[in-house]
Amino acid sequence: MSVERLQCVTCSRTYDIMDVRYTCDCDGLLSVERSGIIDRDAFDDRRTSRADIDRSGVWRFREAVLNLDKVVTHPEGGTRLYRRNALLFKHEGENPTGSFKDRGMTVAVTQAVRVGATAVACASTGNTSASLAAYAAQAGLRAIVFVPSGKISSGKLAQTLAYGATCLQVRGDFDASMRLVREACDRLGIYLVNSINPFRIEGQKTIIWELLQDLAWEPPDWIVVPAGNLGNTSAFGKALREAFAYGWITRMPRLASIQAHGANPFYRSYRESFATRHRISAETIASAIRIGDPVSYDKAVAAIGETRGIVEEVTDDEIMAAKREIDGMGIGCEPASAATLAGVKKLHAAGVMKESEQIVCVLTGHILKDPEANYRPENVVEIDPTIEAVEKVLSSRN
Ligand SMILES: [Zn+2]
Repeated sequence: MSVERLQCVTCSRTYDIMDVRYTCDCDGLLSVERSGIIDRDAFDDRRTSRADIDRSGVWRFREAVLNLDKVVTHPEGGTRLYRRNALLFKHEGENPTGSFKDRGMTVAVTQAVRVGATAVACASTGNTSASLAAYAAQAGLRAIVFVPSGKISSGKLAQTLAYGATCLQVRGDFDASMRLVREACDRLGIYLVNSINPFRIEGQKTIIWELLQDLAWEPPDWIVVPAGNLGNTSAFGKALREAFAYGWITRMPRLASIQAHGANPFYRSYRESFATRHRISAETIASAIRIGDPVSYDKAVAAIGETRGIVEEVTDDEIMAAKREIDGMGIGCEPASAATLAGVKKLHAAGVMKESEQIVCVLTGHILKDPEANYRPENVVEIDPTIEAVEKVLSSRN
């Protein structure tokens, strides 16, 4: 059995896996690392098991996530892969609380219990807070969420409150909430479960592994992901690096991280070959990626480098047009998720992606997460309660 440790991605200093810390003394990000080679045979066998820990699309891979037998699992993962118009969509909105966040949260909350925490906290644009609230409720921990006041969707806020979390609405943007929650956790002894927490990243890796498993470990050419705080870009890079190192795959897919034009600090850095780290004031309709100072920047830069990845930006109009297309396929997603399809269209047009290549878009949130973005008044007609009124509407609208 391999020994798990925390390791700084900047200076390589290591810390014990049970240390409650989120960054290195040098301020670098920490990563969970392990030695040795892990075999993937058991992962396929577990798909027919009836135990929750095996049915979970996260803990099925536990030797390469966090090697424990006692875990806080809903269970999560096991999300569908949809094939539409030569594209594949891995729908992470099908997780228990409706977003990919459950994959990282099951691991972070498991670690919180393991280190004896009694309260957990995060800053969130909405999906993380809902996930945290649900897993904390399951584990019997107090949950405190910091959200930018008036900046998260009503669906996500209501969901968070329903699971019983205490919600602190911070006057400021997401980045202000992030700074405050880090200070609060340091000073008040609360366990922080934002994606700066390296255990979150370990869980999010399994999006890629489950996808590869669904494709019989035959990697696609491209994996496309919405990019905000860069936790997924980081996790996907680590998942692919490890899958390749362990011999689970023999070819490396390319990552395409797609940002919204109004929240594009990573894209700006990419355009300058990452010479400068940008921090901006973010604005986009895609609230889940409305982030101007992404926490996982350093890990994401490495992920793009290791996968010959690219970063692209799309406008809000392109995002909403793509969302209508995904909704129109009968799949549906929240706006941020649609940045993937918008990005694919742009990269196809530019000749970066080829028609012959297999592309997987990772949809991160459920269609019901952002109710305001779904309403289409042109599809609603108020009528008198008569058959003539019905006929009139149907004949005027094919
Ligand atoms: Zn360090």
